[in-house]
This record gives sequence, C-alpha cells and structure tokens, in this order.
Amino acid sequence: MPRTRLTDEEQKRKSLERYHKWVQSHPERAREVSRNYRQRHPEKRKETTKKYREEHRDEILEKNRQYKDENREKVRAYGRLYYEMNKEKYQQWQDDHPEYGRRQCQKRRRMIHQLPYTLTPIQREQKKAGGCMFCGTREKLEVAHDIPVSRGGGMTDDNTICLCQRCNRKMGTKTLAEVLGLS
Ligand SMILES: [Zn+2]
Repeated sequence: MPRTRLTDEEQKRKSLERYHKWVQSHPERAREVSRNYRQRHPEKRKETTKKYREEHRDEILEKNRQYKDENREKVRAYGRLYYEMNKEKYQQWQDDHPEYGRRQCQKRRRMIHQLPYTLTPIQREQKKAGGCMFCGTREKLEVAHDIPVSRGGGMTDDNTICLCQRCNRKMGTKTLAEVLGLS
C-alpha cells in the first residue's frame, strides 16, 4: 500500500492523538510526567496560567462571583482569618493611604469641629421641606454641604442644601457649582 506523505499539521495531530491515548492508558505515569515537567519549567507554567487567565477573564470572574454567592459564610470566615494573619500589612497600607478609611473620617470630624456650625434646627427642617434639590425625592434626606467639608465649607445656612442620600454620595467632594457645571 503506497504511503502518502503527511503534512506537518497532520503529523502534529497524529502525535498528539498518540500522546492522548498513552495518557489514557497510563494515567499514573502521565500525572507524574506532567508534574515533573511543571517542576522543571516553573516559568513556562506561570506563562500558561497567565495566558489562560487573560483569555478566560470574564468566565473566571463569573465563577468567582458564583462561588462567593454560594459560600458566603466560608468566604467571610476566610476573609477574617486572612485579615488576622496580615493585620500589620493592612495597617501599614492604611498609614500609606490616608485618603481611605477610618483615619480620613477622623480627620473630617476634626475639620468639622473647626468649621462654623450655625445651622439651626428650624433652618434644617425648612431645607428638608423642599425635598432633594437634584431629584426631588422626599426619602432619606440629608443636609449636604455646598462647599464640602474637605474644602472648608461649614454647616451654615448659606452653605447647606438638601439632598437625598443617593444624590449626596454622587456629589462626593464637588461643590454645588461644579456639579451643575457652573465652574
Ligand atoms: Zn436626590
């Protein structure tokens, strides 16, 4: 029977098939070989993992989300354990990033004490009577600063507006004029 020459592609496929067959009939040995290979080529393994993660990013994120949803208690317990084990690292990070976290709140509180606070309870109620200045809702109303605390705005009648919780969070550290696009 005349043999036809195989193309490179076919040859590759053939040897891969043969390899898969061998793996199936020698599972123990195959595991050992692949373990040895990974130990000898840690760089290659990292590369493969990285490539896989990049190509299956959304899939992995979705899987993680699912796992977290289904194992909430476990995840929380692990989180606590991890925190306990890395407490110093966390605290160091907080020191390095004063713009985040409790320290920032403490700073804000200190600032508030130094800023004028002249808003009377009556003025406060009057402000709230009109509902949220941005969206008009009357739920979860807060007295918000026009010029924020972080930029020196006090709790005075002319520096406060009424916003709902959501609009207030959205406003962040902007002034009213900045939100409205006036400056
Ligand atoms: Zn609102």
